[in-house]
Amino acid sequence: MATKETTQELLEEMAAEAEGDGDLDLVGHFAAHADKHEMVRALHLAHGRISTMNDQISSLESELFQTNEIISVVKALERVDTLSEKVEIFTAIMRERLESEVSVFFLYWPNESQFLLEEVFGTILQSQDQCVIRQSSGLFWELTCQGEPFARRDPHGLTRFGRLLECIGLEDTAIELFVPLAIGGLPVGLAAFAPRDLRASMKDDYIRRYAAQASASIKTAMLYETNQKAKQDLDRTLSNLKMLYNIGKVMGQISDLKALLQFIVQEACNTTTAERGVLFLRDDETGRLVGRVAKGLSDATREREVNDGAAEYRTHRLCNLDVERCYQTKSTITLNHVDDTDEAIRGGDGAVLRSVMYTPLIVNDECIGVIKLSNKGAKGVFTAEDEQQISAMASQAAVAINRSQLYNLAIKDELTGLYVRRYFTHWIQEEIKRADRYDTPFAVIMIDIDHFKSINDTFGHQVGDIALVRLAEMIHETIRDSDVASRFGGEEFSLLLPEADGENAVLVAERLRKRVESTVIPEMERAMTISMGVACYPKHGKDETGLIKSADMALYQAKGNGRNQVILWDL
Ligand code: GH3
Ligand code: MG
Ligand code: MG
Repeated sequence: MATKETTQELLEEMAAEAEGDGDLDLVGHFAAHADKHEMVRALHLAHGRISTMNDQISSLESELFQTNEIISVVKALERVDTLSEKVEIFTAIMRERLESEVSVFFLYWPNESQFLLEEVFGTILQSQDQCVIRQSSGLFWELTCQGEPFARRDPHGLTRFGRLLECIGLEDTAIELFVPLAIGGLPVGLAAFAPRDLRASMKDDYIRRYAAQASASIKTAMLYETNQKAKQDLDRTLSNLKMLYNIGKVMGQISDLKALLQFIVQEACNTTTAERGVLFLRDDETGRLVGRVAKGLSDATREREVNDGAAEYRTHRLCNLDVERCYQTKSTITLNHVDDTDEAIRGGDGAVLRSVMYTPLIVNDECIGVIKLSNKGAKGVFTAEDEQQISAMASQAAVAINRSQLYNLAIKDELTGLYVRRYFTHWIQEEIKRADRYDTPFAVIMIDIDHFKSINDTFGHQVGDIALVRLAEMIHETIRDSDVASRFGGEEFSLLLPEADGENAVLVAERLRKRVESTVIPEMERAMTISMGVACYPKHGKDETGLIKSADMALYQAKGNGRNQVILWDL
């Protein structure tokens, strides 16, 4: 391609030639001159084109250079994964280009329809938490959506967005230039700088182009992070549901109230990583809230006594008030960062209290108790998520507790708290299946109080009732947890001793007999005596009717032999 210099040289040479031509042939001369003029004109034209092309080439060259530069900075944006890293790189490159010492960056969150502060560099904002820009922000919003850089001041040097800048905390900063990031008229973000040369920066095409490229990259990162967060939330919800489902399933299988309450407290502690847990239930007789089971008390002996019902769970006055308030308002109460310098605030056992959460147990819109959890692990605080989880668990727990209480009402004798006869016979049927499966024996003992009529006659029916309760307590204290005791009817009681043969059962019966005959009932100022008949499975009966009949006949023999004795049925 001809260069500017060579074209110029050629033209000069030709012009000189045309002027200095001494040819006398006029026609030839004219023709020759006409040709030369034509050529000169053409060459002038060509020169003009070439110089335009040269200009275009140099502008293309500088554009290519800028494009390469932008490609490389956009590549830098693509190399990092997180949104905050992208923003950090974008503002850093912009600060360098603009020679700005400060930068502020907002991200636009479409769900909340507002910009929120994402990054501040080299300056301090007055009110960082309130740093939001809403759609209602007028001209500022319009300019932001257009995606063209704009200045803080109008051509007369007056601040245009005074109130807004004050609102978002930029008023007292050196910020002069806003660079919006937008895609198709929708905002993505907004960067703000204090450029060294504002006029030059406003004209700098690099700023526009880089902002446009960065918009896409940052928007993609935002979408990705939003999706990731939604996915995590969903995963967490799913795992919570799974946990609730499992807990619900287990609760449905526990019919023993105490075991159920212990399971609930255990699971509540596990779920929230609380150190301690206590479950309070309303006592129907007194109307008081009584701590029925506890976990994690600093005094292990006391914890055992509370769980066995031997001791009452005691706590400080303020805690009792909170439990009561939770119960009355039927709503969760969470107290984090409890001031434990006050001795009164400390747990009943003097243990340090850092954080505590009370959750009501509600069934059919009625509060039946409260779960108290304290000291979330690793000095943590109870979160809204903890509250939600435990509330969801508590509603299942309340139903299970209620069902268990109703069940207990149906299967337990009101006066003595022992099982009713129907439940006892049902239990014998179950025990027969088990005994057959494992080829083990079991024993049934029928108990009848001697001359109970005369106790009633001498001391009155009420004292008679007290005697029945006392006997039930003595039975309870004599047998093992796996044994089943029932009030068979009136002043007759029955026992089922799994895996016991006749000999073992007679030993247990004798132990009980001796205890009863030597225990003075204060209201009667004397002890009573009992007679017992023992029968074993499968030797003395193949079903519950046969077994009870054999034990009854043995009891009848004991009565006939003079009472206050144990007889093992003998075929
Ligand atoms: P024994 O068994 O030694 O032959 O004499 P007994 O006096 O115990 O004889 P019986 O079985 O005939 O008497 C049972 C009495 O128990 C009759 C009844 O009034 C009384 N009784 C039954 N149920 C209750 C109760 O719930 N409370 C009280 N106080 N008495 C009851
Ligand atoms: Mg009787
Ligand atoms: Mg009797």
